[in-house]
Parts: sequence; structure tokens; C-alpha cells
Amino acid sequence: MRLVLIGPPGAGKGTQAALLSAALGVPHISTGELFRDHGARGTALGRDAERYVESGELVPDEVTVEMVRLRLDEPDTGRGFVLDGFPRTVAQADGLEALLSGAGLRLDAVVELTAPEQVLVDRLLGRGRQDDTEEVIRNRQRVYHRDTAPLLSHYADLLVSVQAVGPVEKIAEEVLASLPAQAP
Ligand code: ADP
Repeated sequence: MRLVLIGPPGAGKGTQAALLSAALGVPHISTGELFRDHGARGTALGRDAERYVESGELVPDEVTVEMVRLRLDEPDTGRGFVLDGFPRTVAQADGLEALLSGAGLRLDAVVELTAPEQVLVDRLLGRGRQDDTEEVIRNRQRVYHRDTAPLLSHYADLLVSVQAVGPVEKIAEEVLASLPAQAP
């Protein structure tokens, strides 16, 4: 199963991606996590990404797609993946499409998680990550509406939308129930 999760910051993509990854037996790939990991290890990629991550701006598409390409090349993605936080622009979606079609593969579904804006901001302020100051949070929301929301129409044919409010297990069940029957 090859899944993409889309939703504004605070919609709970990370939580749902972890639950779905466990239920489906495929790895959870979070580009936010990958960037933080590269940053902590001080790789060249991490240094390129640092200033964008700190301000809540998107890391340039070429850097991001290259990082994802390296991750998708790892053998644990053979049965699929849950992508969390990628693609976030139409250019990244095109990059992903090129990576997959090169291997004769395609996405099975794109899941949109939705929640009211004030719920999103409250959740993120409660989380207390280093880039979770109110100003940076508001900027990530702006960037989402500007750069990522257009992906919803790009993926209209694959899109499943779920309200991400309430108990996390119930939300995951709802997502699982709305996925297409798994290809053999
Ligand atoms: P959130 O969903 O709360 O914005 P993430 O952990 O997904 O948090 O992302 C943190 C930061 O990492 C983003 O603000 C951005 O700078 C960078 N980032 C993550 N994914 C991408 C992506 N697909 N393209 C560009 N930048 C990204």
C-alpha cells in the first residue's frame, strides 16, 4: 500500500501515519523527521534545510525530493509506505510521480486530514517542539494554504478526506475503512 497523508500542521499526520504504518505493515516516512534527523547528524542536507525548518518555510523542492529518493531506495519500502508531510507542493508531487513510475509503481491513495484552524494551533502550541512558536506555527499554516492545498485538486482521483477530530484510533479506523482494496 502506497499512501500519502496531506493536512495542515497540527492535523495529526504524524500520529495517524504511525498508526496506519503499523496496521498496514509498511514504513512511516516523515520528511519533517528526516530533516530533523539530518540536522541532528549535521549532514550537508541537514545544513541546507536548517534555516527553512527553523522559520517554517518549505525546504527547496530539489533538496526534499532528493532526500525522499534516497529514503525510498531503502529495501523496507518494497511493500509500500505511508508518506507524512510529502509531497507538499505540486512540483514535489511530480517528483514523486517520476520516482514511482520509474519503478513501475503508483500511489494507491492520498488521505487528507482536516480539522478547524483553532484546534490546529492549540495542538501545536501544546506540543512544544522547537519550531512550534506561535509565529512559526502561523507561518506554517500560511505556507500550507498557499503551497500544499493546491495538491488536493491535483490528487482529486485518489483523494480520501477524513475529519481528524476525536480519538486517534477511531480516526485511523475511518482512514483504513476508506482505503481502496489492497492490490496483491
Ligand atoms: P508540520 O507538519 O508541523 O509543519 P513537519 O515535521 O512535517 O511539521 O515539518 C517541519 C518542517 O520541515 C517544515 O516546516 C518544513 O520546513 C520542513 N519540511 C517538511 N516536509 C517538507 C517538504 N515536503 N517540503 C519542504 N519542506 C518540508
